[in-house]
Formats: sequence, C-alpha cells, structure tokens
Amino acid sequence: MTQRPRTWSLNLYLAGFGLVSLLLMALLAWWILLRIDAMDRSLQAAEAAGAREELQHALHDRLVEMRKAARKLAAWDEVRQQFAQPAYYAYWRMHRLHKPGILPADVVASELYDRTGQRLGSFRDALLPARLPDPPRERVFLDTRHRLVIEQYQPVTDPDGRRLGWLGLRWALLPGLQRAVYTHLDPETLHVEGMPPAGIPPERLLDHLRYAIRPSHAKQAVLELLYAVSLQTALVVGALAFSFYLLFRHLVSNPLHRLARLVRALGSGEETPLARARFPITELEVVRASLQAYHERLQETRRVLDDRNRELWLLAHRDPLTGVLNRRAFDEDWTRADGTSGPAAPMAFLLLDCDHFKAINDTYGHQVGDEVLRRIARGIQHSLRASDRLYRLGGDEFAALLPRCDADCAREVAERCLEHLDGEDFTRLGIHEPVRVSIGIALAEGERLPPLDELKRMADTAMYHAKRPNRHRIQFYSGHMDREGGMLYSSRVLHAVERALNTGEGIEMHYQPVVDLVSGRTLYREALVRIRMEGALLAPGRFLPVIEAHRQEVELDLAVLEAIRRDIERGGIPEHEGVSVNVSGMGILRREVMQALERLAAAAGGRALILEITETAYIAQIEQANHQIGAARALGYQIALDDFGSGYSSLRYLATMPFDIVKFDISMTRQLAGGKPQRLLTERMVEMLTEAGYKTVAEGIEDAATLERVRQAGFACAQGYHLGRPAALDAPAQAAPARGRAAVGGNRSEDP
Ligand code: C2E
Ligand code: MG
Ligand code: MG
Repeated sequence: MTQRPRTWSLNLYLAGFGLVSLLLMALLAWWILLRIDAMDRSLQAAEAAGAREELQHALHDRLVEMRKAARKLAAWDEVRQQFAQPAYYAYWRMHRLHKPGILPADVVASELYDRTGQRLGSFRDALLPARLPDPPRERVFLDTRHRLVIEQYQPVTDPDGRRLGWLGLRWALLPGLQRAVYTHLDPETLHVEGMPPAGIPPERLLDHLRYAIRPSHAKQAVLELLYAVSLQTALVVGALAFSFYLLFRHLVSNPLHRLARLVRALGSGEETPLARARFPITELEVVRASLQAYHERLQETRRVLDDRNRELWLLAHRDPLTGVLNRRAFDEDWTRADGTSGPAAPMAFLLLDCDHFKAINDTYGHQVGDEVLRRIARGIQHSLRASDRLYRLGGDEFAALLPRCDADCAREVAERCLEHLDGEDFTRLGIHEPVRVSIGIALAEGERLPPLDELKRMADTAMYHAKRPNRHRIQFYSGHMDREGGMLYSSRVLHAVERALNTGEGIEMHYQPVVDLVSGRTLYREALVRIRMEGALLAPGRFLPVIEAHRQEVELDLAVLEAIRRDIERGGIPEHEGVSVNVSGMGILRREVMQALERLAAAAGGRALILEITETAYIAQIEQANHQIGAARALGYQIALDDFGSGYSSLRYLATMPFDIVKFDISMTRQLAGGKPQRLLTERMVEMLTEAGYKTVAEGIEDAATLERVRQAGFACAQGYHLGRPAALDAPAQAAPARGRAAVGGNRSEDP
C-alpha cells in the first residue's frame, strides 16, 4: 500500500518559518553583540598600549629636560663661585638660588656638595641628604609629603673641567608628566603605586605609574552607532518580517484558505458566500472566478442532464399512445412499493380491460382502435384522484394504483370510470357496438403489502369475474373467486392449455349428435373440444376463460380445426354424417382460421359442414364477419347462429347476417316448460324463423318430455344428452332414447 505524504496547513508552515526566522535573528543579534564587544576590547587594548607609550615618551622627555636643566645650572658661574667662597653659600642659597625664577619649575629642593661629598652648609629646611649618596645616581621615590620626586646629582666643574663639587636637585615629577600632551592617557588620574621606600631608578618608574585611559568619544560614538545600527537593523528586519507575515497571511495564506473552503463547499454542493467574495490577488481571483464559472457551468450541465434525464425517464416510462405511465413504470413503482414495510393506509389496485377490444381493432382498423384506447385512458385518468397513478400494461389492459383508498373509495373511483366511459360517444368513431370496460379490484389492507404477483392475480381474477356474462362490470376480489375458479388459475391448467395450443397435445374432440326431429336421423355431429390434463378431461367451461383471458381464441380455433381434420382423415366420422365446428368470434375474422376451414372442407369429402358462431362473439365485426362468412359459405359451410336467445340482440344479427341455422340456447328450450307467455314466445320465434327459411335447432334436450316439447314447438332438429352425449370417436355409443339413438353410434359418451 502506498503511503500518502502528510500535508500541513500553510499557516503552520508560516508559523514555523516565523519561529526559525526569530531564532536566526536572535543568533545574528548575539553574534553582532559579540563582535562589537570584541572590537571594544581590542580598542581598549590598543588604547592602553598607546597610553603607556605616551607616558614613556613623556617620562623620557621629562628626564632629558631635567638633566639638561641640571647641566645648565651646574654650569652657571654663580654656582661655581659657591665652591670658591662657601661662606657666602647660605646667604646666596636663600637670597639668590631660592628666589623665584632662578631654579626651574618643579625643582623642590637643591643643595651643593663639595668634592668630598659633604653638603655645603647645614640648613633646617634642607630636604636633600647631608652627604652625597654613593654613587650619586638618579633615584625616584616618594618624599615625606608623598610627592613623587626624583633626585639628581650633577657634577660641577670649573671651565677647565676640574671638578669643584656636586649640584643636587630634587624634582617633583608628576606635575611635569601631567603637563605633557596625551591622546589616550588621562593625566589627571596619574599616580604611583607600590613604590619601595628606598626608591627606584627612573627607568623602572613606568612600572609603578598608574593612570586611567581617557574616554575616547569617537570610539564611544562608533560603539553607540554600532549598537544603534544593530538595534535599528534588528527592528527593521523584525518589522519587515512581521509585515511580510501579515502581507503573506492577507494576500496568500488567508485567500488560499478561503479558496480551499470554497472548493470544499463547491464540491459538497453547499451554497457559500465565498463563491462571490473577491480575492485581493489577481491570480487567485482568476482561480476563484474560473472555479465559480466552472461550477456554474457544471450546475448548468447538471440541470440540462436532469432535464434530459426527466425527458428520457418520461420517454421510457410513458406510453406513447395514451400518454399514461407504461408497464415499465408500473414494474418500477411496484418494486419500490414492494420494498416498503407495509402501507399505513389501505391501497387499491384496479385492473381495467376493454371488452372485445381486439374485435374493434380488427373491424375498424388500428387508427380507430388507437383512438378508443386514448379515450379510455383519458376517461380513466379523469376519474382518478390526483394522487392515483394510471398505467397501460399492454393492449387494452390498464392498471391504476390508488394509495390511501379503501373499498368504498375504490368503488367510487371505478364507478366514475364506467360513468365517464359510458358517456363517451364512440359512434363518432363509427363504432356502433357499446365499448365497455370491465374492472377488477384488489385491495391491499393490513400490515403487509401482498406481493405484486399476488395482488395482480387477485385483480385479474376479479376482472374475469367482471367479464362474465350477466355480471357487474366492477368486481372486487374475494376468496370465493379463487375457489370458484381454482382450476382456472391453477398453473397446471395454464400449463395444459399452453401445451395444447402450442403442440396440439391433449386436445381431444368430442362429438355430439344433432338429430333431425322428423326422421330421427343424426344429421351431423357438433365437435366440442376438451383438453386432457393428467388423465382427466377439461371441459371448455374450465379452460375457455383462460384462453379468452390470454387472447388465444385463434390458436384454439386452429388447433380444433386441425384435430377435426385429423379425425375425419382417419375415418372417425361416417361419410353420411356432417360435422359442426365452433369457431370463436375472433377466429372468424382471421385469415389463418379461414385457411384452416378451407383445409377442413378439403378433407371433409362429401360430409356436410356447419360453422357455429356464438352471437355474443359478433358484437363488433359485422361487416368483416359477413365477408368472411360469405367466404366460408363459398367453401360449402352452412352457418349456424349458436346460443340464440342467450344474448340480447339476436334478431338484429339475424337481419343483417347470412345464417342458415339458428341454434336455440338451452335457456330458450327450457322456456318451453315455463309459463304460457315464455312458451308462446319461443314457439312464435321458431315459427317465424322457420318461415324465414332458417333451420332451427333446440339445444339442451335432457329428457323425453323436453324432446316432445321441442317437437311440438316446431323445431327442425335437436341436440342434448337425451339424444346423445358429446363423446370421443373411438368409443361405442351410449344408449339413447329410441327416436334419436340411431344416429349417434360409434361414440364414447362422457359423463354428465
Ligand atoms: P355450444 O356450442 O352451445 O355447445 C353445446 C354445449 O351444450 C356443450 O357444452 C354440450 O356438452 C352442452 N350440452 C349438450 N347437450 C346438453 C344437455 O342436454 N344439457 C346440458 N345442460 N348441456 C348440454 P360444452 O362442450 O361444455 O361446450 C360449451 C361451449 O364451449 C360450447 O357451447 C361452445 O360455445 C364452446 N365450445 C365447445 N367446443 C368448442 C370448440 O371446439 N371451439 C370453440 N370455439 N368453442 C367451443
Ligand atoms: Mg356450439
Ligand atoms: Mg350452443
């Protein structure tokens, strides 16, 4: 792992720099002081040497002067005369010699000595000794009055050079020395120390002279100047360093600090007044302004990106046709909702589906179909509350999520939807059949949100219940729906249906005879589909809703027509009997189904072929269906209107469509056993249709009495368990009542 180098703040560096500078400055000051001191000491030494030299010169000069003066005095005639007449010496000494101006200044005593060394005369005031010292050398000493004196003895000779005697002089030494001119030495301070009482020769006097050095003003001035300059330099350097520190802090350190805070604030997205504050240094101001501009550009880019993101999100999550949210948005919303711990308030899930939308689409074209979807979406959206979300899950299937919505609220919203859509005028689009929407509702209540699949399945189940005939178009999911349609939604059934449709495996056709009531002959057999699942047979009532729910009617039609064709080809159906096939409303409109019908017709040989169409399947596609039916007739099919009387617009269809056979629904057959009005209604209907040229078939003949009633009512044919159950081809026929049984042989009948 690489170690990142440590970093310190600029202020810390600055403080360190200041500290080191202070230390260096202190060292420098100390060194300068040392240098000045050393210079002072060397100057003092030079001064001392100079002073000593000066004193030496002064002493030498003084001695030379004194000797010269002594020699001059010794050569004075009057002195010589004293040796000739010593009797006058005392008088001469007092009145002449000691008179001012005769003896040189500084001479404090003088005496004359004869050739033997004896002082001429004896005086009370005589300071010089009575006898000439031997040898008569110069001697310096302190006299009784503590004056520094020097005694000299100068030989006195006659002009011929014969010695007459001696002149002794005692000089005060200091005054003469003090009069000399000195540069270094202070003459006022001149004094003697350590002088032996016996005195010393003048050459050694220098060692006993003490003095002070005259204070040198120049030197003092130079030193003071040096001190002052050092101090001022130190002060200036200190002031400069301090100003540099302040300037650096103000111009660099603080701005950098602010810049760092600014960068940090910009990085974390905080709003900071620093972003606008200007810097005193141009370069930093450029950096700040660039950062600010860069940040603003970044913000702008982010805004643009956000907008683009929103647009993309909308593109990705909106259904382009209707403008409502799409399946992807639905899945994401659900994943999110699924992740939450549970709804605090109940939530409703509405599944809305347009009945027979595919037929509308196929009949009126995609443009009309699209417009219908748009209007449905608009209608639902208007009926929802602001907080509700509407999704188009695909095709004509819409889902709405209603947060904080209980059963009453959900019902209210669903009713508003139906009201809105019922109020919509679809005839403007050229659609004459009612466009209806069924709504299945599942409620999520309680602590935990049920998983999406589960809620969707519940709403799905409710919706299929809503789609069933004679049911209210709004259905709330309840547990009994599961029990009722348990098989319907079991994955085993779904699997069996899926396999049957994809591979044809498990599809088994049962055939039920349709008997001519006059001859008692089986005219043809109705092919009824079953799906085999794990040994059991599923009747259409079990799997048709699944197929319708998955819009797989056409696939079923194709599989059925193919199975019937195979049954015919392997000789399962006698040549003299016809086959009646049921085709879904969707199938009628599809080319593939027409082609399958064509193949079946080709395989049928001379057998009669009947095409049964359920009236309810007819709602939307009359024109196109008519065209297709025309094509089927051209192939040799007779067309039967199935389950006549179970719907409500049967007569309208009959008037506009080319049917050959009308099969009365079991409910109509049963009416024959009801009160007179119902019986009459059915009877008249049969009469009327027979007169109009239709062949009538009564469904649901379960016993002999019913058979008799339908015969009385004038039906041409009949079908029912009493005449023969739907049965597989290879089973022998089950016993049937006398009049119908002849025609129903060769089949294995199923249980009621
Ligand atoms: P449908 O076409 O009206 O068929 C007649 C139905 O009535 C059959 O039910 C038949 O078993 C039943 N039935 C016959 N005699 C009696 C009776 O005496 N009493 C009672 N109560 N019922 C009787 P199944 O086979 O369950 O078929 C129900 C419906 O499923 C059919 O009604 C038809 O609409 C549809 N279906 C059946 N097979 C096919 C098929 O191959 N293709 C298509 N598209 N639909 C089919
Ligand atoms: Mg039928
Ligand atoms: Mg029927």
